[in-house]
Amino acid sequence: MKPDLSALPAPDRSTEKRVPLTAKQRAQLALDQNGRCGCGCGERLDHAREGTIDEHIVALALGGTNALSNRAIWRKPGSAVKTAMDMAYIARAKRLAGETCQGEPVRKLQGRGFGSVTRKLDGTIGLTRRAARAARTEAANDAAPTSTRHQEPLP
Ligand SMILES: [Zn+2]
Repeated sequence: MKPDLSALPAPDRSTEKRVPLTAKQRAQLALDQNGRCGCGCGERLDHAREGTIDEHIVALALGGTNALSNRAIWRKPGSAVKTAMDMAYIARAKRLAGETCQGEPVRKLQGRGFGSVTRKLDGTIGLTRRAARAARTEAANDAAPTSTRHQEPLP
């Protein structure tokens, strides 16, 4: 039976839209970080050589804001890692919020046989679909040996 969820308040999933930093804000952040990457790796920001990117410390999709306090300048190589991590967190958060679930979980029925033999619901034993297909292919090959496939045209 499905629980009645209609009485529960809808989860607050509102998120801010990404707002780019102004040049001044970027400069301010870089200064605050003593010119070092905001990820904590200790490397110097090198905009010309490897590029930099302004990161949301807490991703917007996870409830972070565009406030300067939630921003940091990262070296671009490190930011790819963070984006991947954020994506994983976001996927998990959505899963927990039920956004990717279309209702009750669907559990795949476990096969009760093994190998090429399976027990059907009515208790009879038969070949698995895969084994049956393989058997059919084999039979077809037996019925049509190579020599009979090339028939001489009728006179
Ligand atoms: Zn870094």
